[in-house]
Amino acid sequence: MNEMPNCIGCGAVIQTENPKEVGYAPASSLEKETVICQRCFRLKNYNEIQPVSLTDDDFLRILNGLGEQNGLIVKIVDIFDFNGSWLPGLHRFVGKNPVLLVANKADLLPKSVKPKKVINWLKREAKNLGLQPIDVMLVSAHKGMGMREVVDAIENYREGKNVFVVGCTNVGKSTFINRIIKHATGEGNVITTSHFPGTTLDMIEIPLDDGASLFDTPGIINHHQMAHHIDNSELKYITPKKEIKPKVYQQNAGQTLYIGALARFDFIKGERSAFTVYVANDLPIHRTKLEKADALYEEHKGVLLSPPSEKYIDQLPELVRHEFAVKDGKTDVVISGLGWITVQHPNVVVAAHAPKGVEVFIRPSLI
Ligand code: GDP
Repeated sequence: MNEMPNCIGCGAVIQTENPKEVGYAPASSLEKETVICQRCFRLKNYNEIQPVSLTDDDFLRILNGLGEQNGLIVKIVDIFDFNGSWLPGLHRFVGKNPVLLVANKADLLPKSVKPKKVINWLKREAKNLGLQPIDVMLVSAHKGMGMREVVDAIENYREGKNVFVVGCTNVGKSTFINRIIKHATGEGNVITTSHFPGTTLDMIEIPLDDGASLFDTPGIINHHQMAHHIDNSELKYITPKKEIKPKVYQQNAGQTLYIGALARFDFIKGERSAFTVYVANDLPIHRTKLEKADALYEEHKGVLLSPPSEKYIDQLPELVRHEFAVKDGKTDVVISGLGWITVQHPNVVVAAHAPKGVEVFIRPSLI
């Protein structure tokens, strides 16, 4: 039997038997010069997603394999969801291989923010998380910002060896690699990109000029992200597409902010303070009194407080309360995948409520 081709979208080996498994394409499609699996075909044409059975163990197995390789690891994180997209423990998987840390989606940060400041912040946070990258870069794969510099840095640090690009789903890894291919070959849009988490399957090998290759590894699904708790049709509301316009709220203790029906931020104790909300621009924020907040939610979730809309509100896990006594000003209260609220002044007590399973934590302010 002839060897099966790879899907030109996601790289999976094509199979014609099981429509529920990775790489399925109808047998008739094998007659074509290039084959695209049904899943990528649908994503491209209808923005429709099919669940596939690729497990966390598969991802771990692939990551584990990196330690046996000899090359440069390019780790991509999403600057908007830095901690959520971090891939904890990667430094243990990669063995002696150098790691180039690339933070993507720089276009989402307000233009007033200096890239140098963000890079220094990234270096500090990476160190705190146990990773010592060979270099840290900030890019927008989507806009092409900083890509030339990254291409040069990869060329420089790989020293003729293979390159392995890793990242959690939705960090923009496919967009990033498409940019690299475009820089190298002038061809665009070879790999499937979408705003659905988990679209890249199997390793895709992209030959480089000198006989070495660049490998695109599958994105690891991060179950702590907000994206996994809301319906695909509503993901667009929480995924920022453009530069985030921060919203500043002067609050007294005893006031609450609702971010749609997805999260809530209570100011519990402290002097009148400023709080800056960084979330997708179109997400409605509703201000209310803390004492009325529970009742408001029960009565208005899915309608006044939305997304999620009425149709999907029952699928949202219950909100869980996380309280923080913030000692230092300029601290971010992060809701993984949704955004963050910067506490501008020291010595306040606040509480963030987020769907059960979504990580909530504080960190030194990014901006
Ligand atoms: P992958 O799952 O990591 O391969 O991610 P994709 O390349 O499919 O991108 C995931 C989502 O992030 C898509 O909606 C992209 O349009 C978006 N995206 C990718 N790169 C950027 C970027 O530089 N800036 C912004 N704002 N969005 C991006």
